[in-house]
Amino acid sequence: MRWLGVKGGDEVIVPVYTYSATALAVLHAGAIPVMVDCGEDFNISVEAIRNAITAKTKAIIPVDIAGFPCDYDAIMGIVKDENILNMFQPESDVQHQLGRILIMNDAAHSLGAWYSKNIPTGRETDVAIFSLHAVKNITTAEGGAICLNLPEPFDNSGLYKELRQMTLNCQTKDAFSKSKAGGWRYDIVGLGMKINMADVNAAIGLAQMRKYPSLLKCRKRIFEVYNNSFNKYDWALLPPSSLNGKESSYHIYALRIKDITEMQRDKIIEEIAKQDVAVNVHFIPMPMLSYFKELGYKIENYPQAYRNYACEISLPVYPQLTNEEVDFVIKTVINAYAKVVLEK
Ligand SMILES: *Cc1c(COP(=O)(O)O)cnc(C)c1O
Repeated sequence: MRWLGVKGGDEVIVPVYTYSATALAVLHAGAIPVMVDCGEDFNISVEAIRNAITAKTKAIIPVDIAGFPCDYDAIMGIVKDENILNMFQPESDVQHQLGRILIMNDAAHSLGAWYSKNIPTGRETDVAIFSLHAVKNITTAEGGAICLNLPEPFDNSGLYKELRQMTLNCQTKDAFSKSKAGGWRYDIVGLGMKINMADVNAAIGLAQMRKYPSLLKCRKRIFEVYNNSFNKYDWALLPPSSLNGKESSYHIYALRIKDITEMQRDKIIEEIAKQDVAVNVHFIPMPMLSYFKELGYKIENYPQAYRNYACEISLPVYPQLTNEEVDFVIKTVINAYAKVVLEK
């Protein structure tokens, strides 16, 4: 956001259905996160993006929820549409160079996903940002990775160096080169932050990357077992995992249960917890969280996000989960549904 020159009064479009980090990044840049509703597949609604664009829009941050890629052809089509291009008001040098709204994928969930047969996540948007936090598919304990894929006339490798410098207080030398004989002199060339990834964490990440293909296979297997069991029940709505060339990174198994209320969903989770199965809810839409409520966001304006949230239960997915454990989770969910919904 800083590199793009986003500032107070600017607008950045984000999905209402995501982890708060997506909107917080915009707020930290001083700009306004314009939240839009999602679609039935959890991902940002392309139609809602189109309606939310104004002359102040500088960027759009779609999120590949649960690891399933958004519809980037359609989103890219919108920002390259003649009417939208004419509306765009560049202010910073970067914005002038780009000449349109920037598309930045919050790919926190979707490392290893495929946008299409030949395009892995990270190559389909101007910028894609992966999270390597401990709950994600692979980890560096904390940290992430940025993929740069900017069009001409941008120099992506030059920008890589510039961003690295920004993570080290905009200092022209890192501590290693500074401590070499005769290398004491350095400069500070902008207002950076100390937000670099430590080498130790990066080393963990490299080892994780090598293991990732086999870890991803394990996740896919678990998804398939869940799918093959729940598709026998007409009350179960399965999460999207592959469609039209897109393939998920199998990050979150977002099961939805048809025709239940939020309260029934909560009761089902209580029943599941009694069997010591830890499930989750992804996500509480941001307007339902105190800070965003105080800023004036209202969940009533996002009916699809609320519908998805109210009946969603994320089931455990991790490589060490055995087939017996997966079967136990499935049985537990089916029994909890029966107890709360059928026997009421
Ligand atoms: C985890 C997550 C983030 C933040 O990642 P960190 O590495 O913890 O900063 C951002 N967006 C989404 C959608 C996430 O799930």
